[in-house]
Amino acid sequence: MNLLSPLEKVKGVGIKTGEQFAAVGINTVGDLIRFLPRVHEDFSHVTRIADIAPGKATIKARCDAIFTRPVRRGLRITTATLADESGKLQAVWFNQPYRETQLKSGEEFFFSGEFEFNYNRYQLTNPSAEKVSEMPVQTDRLLPVYRAVKGLKTTLVRKILSELKPLITMLPESLPESIVKNEKLLNRAQAYVAMHFPKTPVDVEKARERLAFEELFELLLASQLNRQENAKLEGWHIPFNQQVVKDFVSQLPFALTGAQRVAAWEILQDFEKAVPMNRLLQGDVGSGKTVVAGLAARQAAHEGFQTALMAPTEILASQHAETLQKLLSPFGVQVGLLTGSVKGTARKTLYAAIKNGDVQVVVGTHALIQETVIFHKLGFVVIDEQHRFGVKQRQELLKKAVHMPHLLAMTATPIPRSLALTVYGELDISILNELPKGRKPIKTKIWSPNSRAQLYGLVEEELIAGRQAYVICSLIDNNPDNELKSVQAEYKKLQNSVFKHRTIGLLHGKLKSDEKEAVMARFAAGELDILVSTTVVEVGVDVPNATAMIIEDADRFGLSQLHQLRGRVGRSSHQSYCYLVTSTSAKPSERLREVEKSNDGFYLAEVDLKLRGPGEIYGRAQHGALNLQIATLGDTKLIKRAQEAAKAFVASGAELLPYKELEQQVRYYQRLTTLN
Ligand code: ADP
Ligand code: MG
Repeated sequence: MNLLSPLEKVKGVGIKTGEQFAAVGINTVGDLIRFLPRVHEDFSHVTRIADIAPGKATIKARCDAIFTRPVRRGLRITTATLADESGKLQAVWFNQPYRETQLKSGEEFFFSGEFEFNYNRYQLTNPSAEKVSEMPVQTDRLLPVYRAVKGLKTTLVRKILSELKPLITMLPESLPESIVKNEKLLNRAQAYVAMHFPKTPVDVEKARERLAFEELFELLLASQLNRQENAKLEGWHIPFNQQVVKDFVSQLPFALTGAQRVAAWEILQDFEKAVPMNRLLQGDVGSGKTVVAGLAARQAAHEGFQTALMAPTEILASQHAETLQKLLSPFGVQVGLLTGSVKGTARKTLYAAIKNGDVQVVVGTHALIQETVIFHKLGFVVIDEQHRFGVKQRQELLKKAVHMPHLLAMTATPIPRSLALTVYGELDISILNELPKGRKPIKTKIWSPNSRAQLYGLVEEELIAGRQAYVICSLIDNNPDNELKSVQAEYKKLQNSVFKHRTIGLLHGKLKSDEKEAVMARFAAGELDILVSTTVVEVGVDVPNATAMIIEDADRFGLSQLHQLRGRVGRSSHQSYCYLVTSTSAKPSERLREVEKSNDGFYLAEVDLKLRGPGEIYGRAQHGALNLQIATLGDTKLIKRAQEAAKAFVASGAELLPYKELEQQVRYYQRLTTLN
């Protein structure tokens, strides 16, 4: 028997059990060994009911009586009376009606949970329950609890794992021995034994450290290797021309911020190297990333290179095209816009101009890569809001050049440092941590839906002063099942009542792209006072005269998303306001309060990472596949250690070949995260 043996080979696993495991993706012995406990319950300290005190507690008791009652839709409460020889207490579970069947047998159980004051009495809330007779003896009462996916019983998992214990004890090491030794890690066999059959909490801690280290090491080694491979590529040499840059800067209507200067300088230096640039430009909303890209594109064009800029939406692409046109046309640089709505002859003409080099800067959406666009001499690729693009799309775009073009990925969703190191470890990073001069921090306020009239008064004041406003809603059509404001209903309501005397525009994803653009253009030109919109304005849209934003049902949005939305105002020297209207008058969530308190995107990203985890924020595709089981991206210390080890491994010239499993995993991550 080995790790690849089918689970049915194990004693006690019949076809039926095998199928049950297969349903949750556990097919082999190795899969089961890697199926780690969700938590470890500590049953080593049992308290007599008579002695119980508030806080975490474990008791050994029988269930005297148990019943479930529906409280309201979506909530059923199960209440039980638990008894040992010293006394009785009450336990409650929320939405766990199966506890009735589990506990009715009258057998003895360990119950472990929080003993707390709730609903006017002390009770044990949502305790776990473990049949005493099923407690494995060898675990010293520290019990692994496995995820109960699709009815998979934790007791069954434990039973089969104990059959496999001899095999687990002999698992060969997967990391280089020297690293295990230097980092003072448990070896692999020890780690899995400790996870599945822990003796003390310290065992579990050590095992976690070892397995998390391994995951991070694999990920970071992959990005180190990608970096190394990138360094072997030949790039375009685009020499720095001081006069060209000076001329560009001097025709700007503003002075660059210090941070913009530094970032531009870093990019221009990379252009001069023989190796293609791989750089992430991180800047909070409104920090002025576009002009930095424009400056670099100007330098590239001067040396005869084309630039491609890819944006996630048509609105954004056309806005970028317009901005770049303004910035670059004084120097005779031609800017083309290629989106799905450029059709027929116009499209053919544009293709030809890109191919023969008449157009030096091409801005577009996915159309840039989905069609047969042939570049004359593509030297520089800019990807705006890069976390929205899959790795594959970037690869497609980069394939369009003889040499690997220089790559600049721009994002306004600040990535916490820990995450930047792991997921984007192979990128160099430039940061715009400074807003243009004269910007006033946006004033953000959580607003109860009951005092809307007052709110509209405040917005009207802005409009009277000549400013414009956004109203953001989250759905297109009225859905009777919930109370979300639909943009259409909101638009009608505002137009027919409070803002009768105002010109209002309506923007949502279901509009045709030329309709969308027409609305955006009117808003940008100041012809509309108010724009009622869904989150299609979330990224990048730049209308500096807009100074007020109402976000309806703000509690339905994620933290980073709120910050992004809010970034549509505060783009000029006028004071701007953002009102977060909650869907009920209940107490606002922590998320909303954080957005109200802070304008710092980097700080909010850290908070968001803690509250929701990386998958939600940075796109499922990439992170779902990264699938870190044990390591948390918040563990900067361990990340640092793993990174040092990965760097040292690459620097020592060591080969992956002798480490079969490690190699497999690293190659997988390399394919997943490479930009080449
Ligand atoms: P983002 O980083 O969010 O993409 P943009 O590139 O859209 O920001 O720039 C936001 C606004 O700030 C634009 O209207 C731009 O013209 C303006 N801007 C950029 N840099 C400066 C600067 N140094 N001083 C003043 N305004 C600037
Ligand atoms: Mg932008």
